[in-house]
Amino acid sequence: LSTWANVPAGPPDPILGLTVAFKADKDPRKISVGVGAYRDDHGKPYVLSSVKKAESLVASTNPDKEYLDITGLPEFNKNVALLAYGADCSPLKAGTIAVTQTLSGTGALRVGGAFMQRFFPTGKVIYLPSPSWGNHTPIFRDSGLEVRQYRYFDKKTAGLDFAGLKEDIQNAPAGAIVLLHACAHNPTGVDPTPAQWKEISDLVKEKKLFPFFDMAYQGFASGNTTKDAFAVRYFVEQGHQVALCQSFAKNMGLYGERVGAFSLVTADPEEKARVESQLKIIIRPMYSNPPLHGARIVNAILSDKGLYKEWESEIEVMANRIINMRDRLYDLLTSTHNTPGEWGHIKSQIGMFSFTGLTPSQTKALVEKAHIYMTADGRISMAGLNSGNIDYFAESVSKAVR
Ligand code: PMP
Repeated sequence: LSTWANVPAGPPDPILGLTVAFKADKDPRKISVGVGAYRDDHGKPYVLSSVKKAESLVASTNPDKEYLDITGLPEFNKNVALLAYGADCSPLKAGTIAVTQTLSGTGALRVGGAFMQRFFPTGKVIYLPSPSWGNHTPIFRDSGLEVRQYRYFDKKTAGLDFAGLKEDIQNAPAGAIVLLHACAHNPTGVDPTPAQWKEISDLVKEKKLFPFFDMAYQGFASGNTTKDAFAVRYFVEQGHQVALCQSFAKNMGLYGERVGAFSLVTADPEEKARVESQLKIIIRPMYSNPPLHGARIVNAILSDKGLYKEWESEIEVMANRIINMRDRLYDLLTSTHNTPGEWGHIKSQIGMFSFTGLTPSQTKALVEKAHIYMTADGRISMAGLNSGNIDYFAESVSKAVR
């Protein structure tokens, strides 16, 4: 008998499994709107020009391949905190934000989850929006936290269920952790307005909850990194000691380089040093230290005025292409195909994704009959659409809902 005879087969990952099926599909009309990875208007992966230049710049210094510190490249940590928190941030100016480089956004969430499990003083409960990115639940469960949900998406309006959100946060036990998507909520594409963020901030403070931000899309929501950092910066201004996860997968197109950061606002430099010492103790047995290459690229872009400017304009180009696709898709579904139902949310939702409202049976039909690969919850990655495939996509969706 094999040692592993009793290992049960697990289900494929609901999102990454789609990519496998998509690659195996031979139909020329096939479309992938499953994974949230940016594609250009020819449906091709896009390596940013600022990234290519940063890579040459890094290579020109002929750098060594020594190990990084456990918490990564120090200049990277400094520059990514500046990008997220902004130059006017008081804790940043006071040097009281503990930052560590991580294995992209997922690694930031996992290290953050482990830190909360070990040191968060008031309970081990984390509230996630319903729905949330599918990986949030297993990440925090594996970190040893108890995962609960707060209402977020209103199916009727395809918008924010703000009353439900407030009621659920109101009823959370004091001292719980609340996970907040900083911008471009995945999977719904629905974000609170600045006024709603202010109410959420007040409520979180009043109920003595802890705000844990996941910012995987800074720049991708509006096309502007400052605008997209509004919620995080506002919370810090209001005196919240936030936790923050950053990813450079989407906004720099560095998916496979696995480059991100986790940070915590602390009270003073001495506390920051203690927190950092414990982050090191968590990371060292997990993966010892993070990879070099991606951090060098990000740092080169963030520390060079010219590259930074070019990067910002490239984010804008990506965000605008997605916004264009939203407008086109809306027009095709409504004016061209007279598709039954309300489709205004396609245009009002922001970021990489749209939560279409398509049902599991409709998405199944789209996968099986139309070769259009999407998750069962009806989420589509807008970046998978382009001028060459959007007509076929709209026509297929229109058929699927009749
Ligand atoms: N958080 C959210 C909400 C995401 O959508 C993603 C990417 N799909 C991540 C975190 C992390 O992605 P990565 O590990 O590739 O940075």
